[in-house]
Amino acid sequence: MSQPIKFCPRCGTLMRLKTVNGRLYLVCPKCGYQEEVGQSKISVSRKVLHTPKEKIVVADPNEVPPDAQVIKGSVRCPRCGHDEVLAWTMQTRAADEPPTRFYRCLKCGYTWREYS
Ligand SMILES: [Zn+2]
Ligand SMILES: [Zn+2]
Repeated sequence: MSQPIKFCPRCGTLMRLKTVNGRLYLVCPKCGYQEEVGQSKISVSRKVLHTPKEKIVVADPNEVPPDAQVIKGSVRCPRCGHDEVLAWTMQTRAADEPPTRFYRCLKCGYTWREYS
């Protein structure tokens, strides 16, 4: 089982899991933001991205989609050099343009994009 991964909605830092009185919380180590996590809905994203074909989705790169994958070893964070990152692709512009690939460092939370 891998740890649920979620980033602080305030500052984008990778949140840590914490158990208080038997309840599970995600806590931001940087700004202190915390929220309770129900056992059943530990998930990467706060909402499901619906992508109807005819509509251009202008996605917020701060939203990590549920299908984001953890990549180890092949991509390095340009900020801290950590080699475990979350990777996902998103249609950020017109539908006929290639999707943008996003990476987010699992250590420092830095997010960057790569045009394919
Ligand atoms: Zn925070
Ligand atoms: Zn980093």
